[in-house]
Amino acid sequence: MPNPLYDALFAPLSLRTSPLLILANGAQITGPQFHTTIARAANALRAAGVQAGDRVAVQIAKSPEALALYAASVSIGAVFLPLNPAYTPPEVGYFLNDATPRLFICDPAKADALAEVASQTTLKTLDAKGTGSFGADMAQADLQFTPQARRGADLAAILYTSGTTGRSKGAMLTQDNLLSNAQTLADLWRFTPQDVLLHALPIFHTHGLFVASNVSLLTGGQMIFLSGFDVEAVLGLLPQATALMGVPTFYTRLLEDARFDRALTAHIRLFVSGSAPLLADTHRQFQDRTGQSILERYGMTETNMNTSNPYDGERRAGTVGFPLPGVELRIVADGAEVPQGGVGGIEVRGPNVFAGYWQMPEKTREELRPDGWFITGDLGQVDADGYVQIVGRAKDLVISGGFNIYPIEVEMALDGHPDVLESAVIGLPHPDFGEAVFAVLVAQKGQSLNVAAVLASLSDRLARFKQPKAAVVLAELPRNTMGKVQKAALRASYAAWFQA
Ligand code: AMP
Repeated sequence: MPNPLYDALFAPLSLRTSPLLILANGAQITGPQFHTTIARAANALRAAGVQAGDRVAVQIAKSPEALALYAASVSIGAVFLPLNPAYTPPEVGYFLNDATPRLFICDPAKADALAEVASQTTLKTLDAKGTGSFGADMAQADLQFTPQARRGADLAAILYTSGTTGRSKGAMLTQDNLLSNAQTLADLWRFTPQDVLLHALPIFHTHGLFVASNVSLLTGGQMIFLSGFDVEAVLGLLPQATALMGVPTFYTRLLEDARFDRALTAHIRLFVSGSAPLLADTHRQFQDRTGQSILERYGMTETNMNTSNPYDGERRAGTVGFPLPGVELRIVADGAEVPQGGVGGIEVRGPNVFAGYWQMPEKTREELRPDGWFITGDLGQVDADGYVQIVGRAKDLVISGGFNIYPIEVEMALDGHPDVLESAVIGLPHPDFGEAVFAVLVAQKGQSLNVAAVLASLSDRLARFKQPKAAVVLAELPRNTMGKVQKAALRASYAAWFQA
C-alpha cells in the first residue's frame, strides 16, 4: 500500500549497505539499523494508540531517535509535530492545546515540569540514549511493521511558525509538499548517493528537518549528524563531508576562524545558506577565503523552499536566486503585480505550498488565496536578470512621515561603514513622524563605534528620510536559533526612545 513519503525516504533504508548516519563520536548507524529503529518506533506509537491523522508532538534533543520519530510518524500516517527544545512549559502548553496530539514525547529530565501542561495527552519520554518510557516501549516493540497507506494530500507534519508577532500558527504540510520540494532540491543541487552532508542544523525546523534530512534521505547519501553547530567539530569534520547546509551565522562563525580556508573546504562541493539573510559581505569574504561561492536559497515553514541561486552559473550575493522549477513567484503591491524591478509583497504558488494553518481558517484565508497564491509576508524585488532579492518582512517596513523605508537598504549602507560589523534597522513610534528610523549597530571586532560619525557617513548615501534618527551600539544582535534577528524584541526594548 503506497505511502509516498515513506516509500521514497525510508523504505529504501532496509536494503542500504552504506552507513546512513555518522555521529560526532564516529559511531555509524547503517540503513538497516535505522530502519529497525523506525519500525520499533512505529510499532510503539501504534501501541500508544496513535492512529493515522493523529498528531505526535515531540520535544527532545536532536538525535537519531528524534529523526526516527519523524520517520515513524510518517510511516504510520501520523502527523509529526516537532517542538524546539528551548520552549518552556507554558509555551509547550500552547502547542499541545492547539494541536491536541494523541501523544507527546519529551525529554525524561523535563517530564515533571511538563506534566501539568501535558495533562490532556499521553506523555512519554525519550532521550538521545534511547532511555525513557518511550525508549522502553521501543525496546519491546516488534520489528515487523506495515506502513499505513497515505495519499499525497494527507498531512505529514505540522510545524509551528516562530511567531515573532502574535500567536504561533501551525503550518499543515502534506506528503506532496515535502516530497516534491525534496525532489526539486535534490535535482537542482545535484545530490547523489556519494554525498556526505554535514548536518548541524536543528531538526525541529523546516531547514534541518526537511531541506537537509529529506534531500539526503531521498538521494541515498550519508549524514554526519551533529547535535548542534560547534565550530571545532565542524572544522574537524569538513574534510569528510561534501555538503554543508547552514544559517548565515554558521558561515560568519567559520570565517572568524583562521583555520577555515581553501584546503579545509576542498572536499566540499556545496555550501548552502538560508533561513535568514546572508550579508553580501559574508558571501564575498567566503569566496575570497575558500574559492567557493555560497548558494543562498529562500524558503519558509509554510512553503518549504521557494527560490535558489543556481548550481551552475552566478550565485549572486545579496539575492536568493530564481524561483525553483515548478514554483511560481510574483511581486504584488496595491493588489496588482508590479513591473520588474518594483518592490512589493512576495507571493508564491506551487506543490511546495502548505495546506493552511491548523484550525485557523481565517488566518489561512488572509494569507493563502483561493487560487493557491501564498502571501509570504516578505517584501522583495526581482532584478533585471531574474534574481529575487528579499527586502525585509512586510511587518518590518518602516513608514516615517508617509515615506516607505526598507530596512535592508539602510542596513546595507550602515554595514558599508568600515567600523560596523552589522546592523538592524527598525521603526519606532515617533510623535511627529508616526515612526522614526532607528538603528542598532554592532562594531567590528576590536573597534569602538562613534555613533554620530556612522550616522553622518550616510548623508551622501541615503535620502534624509531614510537616515536613522538615532542609533545604539550592542555587543551582538538578538537572534533566534535559526539566526534570524529578533526585530520585534528590539522594537519592544526601544519602544519609548522617541516618546517625550
Ligand atoms: P521560517 O518560517 O522560520 O523558516 O522563516 C521564514 C522566513 O525567513 C522567510 O519568510 C524570510 O523572511 C526569512 N528567510 C528565509 N530564507 C531567507 C534568505 N535566504 N534571505 C532572507 N530571508 C530569509
